[in-house]
Amino acid sequence: MTDVAPAAVPFDLATLKMHWRRRIEAMRATGVLPLIDVESNLGDDLDIQVFARQMDGEGVALIAFSAVPQGRGWNDAARHAVAADPWRYIPAGNGGLPPDWKRDPVEFARASREHTRSDGYPLMGEYEFRHYPSPDQIQRGHRERDEDLPIDGPAGHELFRFSAESGISFQIHHEIEDQTLAPLEKMLTQYPKAKVIWCHLAQMRYQSRNTVYGPDYVRKLIEAHPNLYFDLFSGPPDHVYPGSGEYAGRYWDRSTGKLKPEWATLIADHPWRFMVALDLNPFIMKAFPRKVAVQRAVLDSLPPSAREIVAYKAAWKLLFNEEI
Ligand SMILES: [Zn+2]
Repeated sequence: MTDVAPAAVPFDLATLKMHWRRRIEAMRATGVLPLIDVESNLGDDLDIQVFARQMDGEGVALIAFSAVPQGRGWNDAARHAVAADPWRYIPAGNGGLPPDWKRDPVEFARASREHTRSDGYPLMGEYEFRHYPSPDQIQRGHRERDEDLPIDGPAGHELFRFSAESGISFQIHHEIEDQTLAPLEKMLTQYPKAKVIWCHLAQMRYQSRNTVYGPDYVRKLIEAHPNLYFDLFSGPPDHVYPGSGEYAGRYWDRSTGKLKPEWATLIADHPWRFMVALDLNPFIMKAFPRKVAVQRAVLDSLPPSAREIVAYKAAWKLLFNEEI
């Protein structure tokens, strides 16, 4: 991928959007429900040609390509991806991942602001505030990524402020715990124009740490905060988080493999606030078809009127402020 010269910046979004729109329309014309994945961290060594065929095979129209900073500061890999394949990747800013984000969150938030502004990214990456070690890290013997950065600290203010000023959305990873809710609500209230995607709806890895969050709570948040969005990434219904031994995806009815009715109703009532996410990272690319199947199971649980919105229309509207 990085054999190709990086795309010029600011990105030529008008031309790119024309390609992306055509791709979505071509999929629809063949009867496929196209997906836009708003949240994936892809590697610099992604085999663009092989992955293009996989995306086509799974009906994934577009992936928001967020590059992984690897301790060397801002990573321009999304520019290479867009140059190599302008039909399939929406450039997203780097994710707030260790080590760069952890080492100096304020500096990383400022770098995000500068690059988003000068390069014209239509979406920022996923910033880890409260974050437990991910399952694939635990499997690889890495339990040290147990992050706890206050969302109402200086880096959080930097991101919320920039998003409110620019209208560019950013994504947060913020584990569901009673104690993490109040600081987030405070920030949403202080920055009502900040566009926040709270990643991984209903992913709860330690039930004992939450007595509040559920469909009623999320509904109240949505009604109180017009610029709050959620991504729908989840493991499959039987996925057990290895850190706790608990089923992590709480929106599933494990007996049917579909959403619990109360979650499906919530999403159907507010479909423009929810979007598909695959949460890919370079270590788990083999899981791509399985992850797509999980998101399609979520969509299949929704009434037909909500499916297209959640599959790709909500993401398009959030990123480009227009309907597709
Ligand atoms: Zn995440």
